[in-house]
Amino acid sequence: MKLLPVNLKHALSKTIKPVLLKVYPKLKSFLRVFALLFAICTGLFVATLLFGSICPVKTIFGIPCPGCGMTRALIFAARGNFERAFYYHPLFPLAPFLVAGVAVYSLSKKPPVKKCAGAILLALCGVFVAVWIYRLAAGWR
Ligand SMILES: [Zn+2]
Repeated sequence: MKLLPVNLKHALSKTIKPVLLKVYPKLKSFLRVFALLFAICTGLFVATLLFGSICPVKTIFGIPCPGCGMTRALIFAARGNFERAFYYHPLFPLAPFLVAGVAVYSLSKKPPVKKCAGAILLALCGVFVAVWIYRLAAGWR
């Protein structure tokens, strides 16, 4: 049983097939990223329900990690409450630079750019660890 006349079938394969072949790889990678983000969000939600914290370091070791409080700090900063943002994480203004550094480091193909981004990321990590140690010593839990 023929569903489509041969001419129409041929015409459709000439017009739709190239478009589908062009769009499909992009759609496939978008779906992979979406599935990964969905899995991460689901994992964070389940971790919050089970352990009361989304931080694996705090859940396993009982102490906050260098990034703990950053989400709350960024939320308060976005609302314009910078005092509260500094309370939750004093390095919240550096968060966009950290994200940009990771993006540049992972996306750049030029060795000098990658090396520079890597050095900046290392320096930022050093600052985060130093502040983390200071906050832990000051009794932060
Ligand atoms: Zn944490």
